Amino acid sequence: MPLWVKKWKVPSFSGTEKIYTVSVAIDGVTWGCSCWPWIKNKSEDCKHITDVKKYPRDPTEIVTINRVTVIPTMDVVEPLYDKHDEKIYVPLVSMDPFDVHMEATICYFLITQGFTIKMIREIRSLSPKWTKKSIVDIIKSKGMKKYKPVNREESMEKGIPVSTLERFRVLELDDH
Ligand SMILES: [Zn+2]
Repeated sequence: MPLWVKKWKVPSFSGTEKIYTVSVAIDGVTWGCSCWPWIKNKSEDCKHITDVKKYPRDPTEIVTINRVTVIPTMDVVEPLYDKHDEKIYVPLVSMDPFDVHMEATICYFLITQGFTIKMIREIRSLSPKWTKKSIVDIIKSKGMKKYKPVNREESMEKGIPVSTLERFRVLELDDH
């Protein structure tokens, strides 16, 4: 299973209320969709993948609460708060297998920024078993998780845009 790093919600084109999730993997070239035609025949892009490729747009899992916008992005290796823009950037979390440690790191960071556990569960689509105590326990035993920074040359080879890396660098400087 590839590590999915960006997701888009794409409504069905056939008039039903279904919404499909289009994902792109960390290599930037592997695509997936939650629709049945794609699951059946993974060698061909479905209508939803084609649509995201043809009309580029921001990933949609973005939430604003208390004027602070929480933005999942592949540009950061750990949660960061950009004071000027009132934006919290959080890394994308692998869903298959679910990266519990990174999810707990993001939740803990949001707690330190004054978010309530109820808000956090809503923002992160977590089940009620994610309590403040369970999150604190994970961080106490494992510490805060941080992804390995992306190597520039390797990223260019893999087709990850340089602008993405530039933004990550700026954010990193802001933070220290
Ligand atoms: Zn699809």
